Amino acid sequence: MPKAIRAVVLRIVVFYVGSVLLLAMLLPSDQALRPYFELDRTIADGVFHAATELYGITFHERNDLKGYHPDVRIWEVRNKDGTGLGLFLGDYYARESKRGGAWMNSLVDQSALLGTKPVVINTLNISKPPAGEPTLLTLDELRTLFHEFGHALHGLFSNVTYPRFSGTSVPRDFVEYPSQVNEMWITWPEVLSNYARHHVTGEPLPQDVVDRLEESRLWGEGFATTEYLGAALLDLAWHVLEPGRVPDDALEFEAKALAAAGITHPLIPPRYRTGYFQHIFAGAGYAAGYYSYIWSEVLDAETVDWFKENGGLTRANGERFRQELLSRGNSRDPLESFRILRGRDARLEPLLKRRGLE
Ligand SMILES: [Zn+2]
Repeated sequence: MPKAIRAVVLRIVVFYVGSVLLLAMLLPSDQALRPYFELDRTIADGVFHAATELYGITFHERNDLKGYHPDVRIWEVRNKDGTGLGLFLGDYYARESKRGGAWMNSLVDQSALLGTKPVVINTLNISKPPAGEPTLLTLDELRTLFHEFGHALHGLFSNVTYPRFSGTSVPRDFVEYPSQVNEMWITWPEVLSNYARHHVTGEPLPQDVVDRLEESRLWGEGFATTEYLGAALLDLAWHVLEPGRVPDDALEFEAKALAAAGITHPLIPPRYRTGYFQHIFAGAGYAAGYYSYIWSEVLDAETVDWFKENGGLTRANGERFRQELLSRGNSRDPLESFRILRGRDARLEPLLKRRGLE
């Protein structure tokens, strides 16, 4: 390797290792935070609590109902007036027979035509502690818990005639939006102080730790956004290629497409390159839709702003979000639902501000 290149590579390595070490020193480690995020308490006093404050719904565990595995917990969800809304199942622990990752499924779709109420499930893969020990969550698991529950609410609040349009049966570039919005309550002061308590001492999560977590939010955002956009734009470049015009040299096509989109940086390759872009080439169903994550986040950032502008965690806000957005499924153009909620079309600024890129 020529000397000049070696020096550049060395500087990059030193910069990255240095920043990671610095961050590790400044940031509370995941292990130090876990005692404040005990699973049962986080579900009852965090995830469910936020939903009760916003939507007035209550959760009643139904030990008389049996799930498909002893780990599966089942709650009946009731409206404020006591009427039944649906069932929520939680299958939180990892086990050998389970696929990895986390997701929400609708087992029964709500439909006025068929007279069905929703039955939805959240599946996670949290390591099960030895018997008698508490389940302490990592930050990532905490975020996943709130995120997947956002999908569950989308299913539970569905109020449509045809099952085809029920709950989360919305376009791919819309479906992550309500679940991402639900993540806003993780650090919302009234919610956080209600669930984030040391599982032994009961002490609340210290404010300086909360502040440092907030301050570290933007770390790596430029890199993450650039590599993501590279992949999203590459996806679209392949998609608009006309039949019979498939290039001989895929990498040359890729380089030209990225240059044309103005997103070439030698240190930031696209998150997925043509040779291993499974989302679009391996039947994962994302072809021309890899952009959907960030588009959902545009709507999410707008909605978080809307909640903040209107007083945050209130029944009035929850009711409006439920009526105009969550309950509609795909029975009305989802963007129309967004427009009615926000009072206008989505703008990019809230997302740019959130990512520190404005
Ligand atoms: Zn999701």
